[in-house]
Amino acid sequence: MRWYIIMKITKKLGVRQMSLIVQKFGGTSVKDAQRIFNVAKIITDTYAQGNSVVAVVSAQGDTTDDLIAKANEINKSGSSREMDVLLSSGEQISMSLLAMAVESMGFPVISLTGWQAGFLTQSTHQNARIKKINTERLQNELDKRNIVIVAGFQGINRYDDITTLGRGGSDTSAVAIAAAMKADLCQIYTDVDGVYTADPRIVPTARKLDEITYDEMLELASLGANVLHNRSVEMAKKYNVKMEVLSSLTKAPGTEIKEVAKVEKMLIKGVARDNDVTRLSIIGVPDYPGIAFKVFSTLASEKINVDIILQSIGRNGRKDISFTVCRAHKGQAMRILEDIKESVGAEEITCDDNVSKVSVVGAGMQSNPGVAATMFQALGDANINISMISTSEIKISVLIHLDDSERAMRVIHDAFELH
Ligand code: ADP
Ligand code: ASP
Ligand code: MG
Repeated sequence: MRWYIIMKITKKLGVRQMSLIVQKFGGTSVKDAQRIFNVAKIITDTYAQGNSVVAVVSAQGDTTDDLIAKANEINKSGSSREMDVLLSSGEQISMSLLAMAVESMGFPVISLTGWQAGFLTQSTHQNARIKKINTERLQNELDKRNIVIVAGFQGINRYDDITTLGRGGSDTSAVAIAAAMKADLCQIYTDVDGVYTADPRIVPTARKLDEITYDEMLELASLGANVLHNRSVEMAKKYNVKMEVLSSLTKAPGTEIKEVAKVEKMLIKGVARDNDVTRLSIIGVPDYPGIAFKVFSTLASEKINVDIILQSIGRNGRKDISFTVCRAHKGQAMRILEDIKESVGAEEITCDDNVSKVSVVGAGMQSNPGVAATMFQALGDANINISMISTSEIKISVLIHLDDSERAMRVIHDAFELH
């Protein structure tokens, strides 16, 4: 049962049940003064119903992108430590402005940066993982009946340096607080009113899902559906955080993310695409045992994550090995391949950035054959060439040309009748 129904019933019975609710607001939800007041109203209404509220905010509008552009004007390879100092300032602006709006409405409120809120992270900059949240300060402020506003996307490492959690990381800040404080609900307010069967900006016929399982959402988020930061879903699953995605602008019900969704006839829950991929190929390596091990163990030792792998059948005693990595790792992966080219006896190293990974996700495919066939037929009929394929229990991904990716999403979405 949803929390507001519980609230309504308890209100009717005259029983006041105090819940802790974490509400996260993304960049578009706080982009200007009017939107900030809109958010302040959501938070204060929740508080006025007798709940404790922690609000987590992102930087306003495109602030994070603008800060990156400013950094590039000064130094294109600025250190990741200084980038984190710069980028964390975006969330600090939002949190104080929102606190001022709440203050002006006559409610008790305090804003906290990531470190004030107790976020301890690993030392890696720009993509730090949360190790722990010291909840003492948060709890003290809630005990004083303050509305607490926390800057998302940031923490502090063991050297007392500011870290950030990776793009889109404010979702993870919110879920981490909900997990650490055992909140009753974590609401992710954004600019769409829920999780759709595909990005509604690319597939206009996409349909909003009432609910989705953690596993399906984790796959979708990891495969490019950036409506949620994938680590937020991972954490929600691990700590069983009740989570929903909804719009800060409409009152429409959102999408619940939970362990088990009610049995639906839907075979496929959604289609996603990821353009942050590069394909690398080692051409003409000798066809004998141990080559793949040498290539991939070297990449692994440099902490390069390899995604789809394809090895051609040997011909004339030689074969090709292709794989994908995220674009940030392209340069480093190319250098490694060039270094081992001679020792593995490869003829050539090539790479291609004009690729996109398009995937379908759904727990239903485990027990239903024919999903891959439907997907490949849709692409074939649309004359879209598949260069690589990878599958797991609940997803199928294909690598195609970048220019075909939006069309591919639409034809696949149609083929599974997701509208
Ligand atoms: P916020 O700033 O609130 O964190 P994001 O831009 O990170 O918002 O995420 C919301 C966006 O995610 C939507 O505007 C939408 O274009 C995109 N998106 C991608 N895939 C999906 C999907 N399956 N369902 C809904 N939105 C999606
Ligand atoms: N402001 C950060 C970003 O744009 C974090 C977030 O919005 O979640 O990536
Ligand atoms: Mg986001």
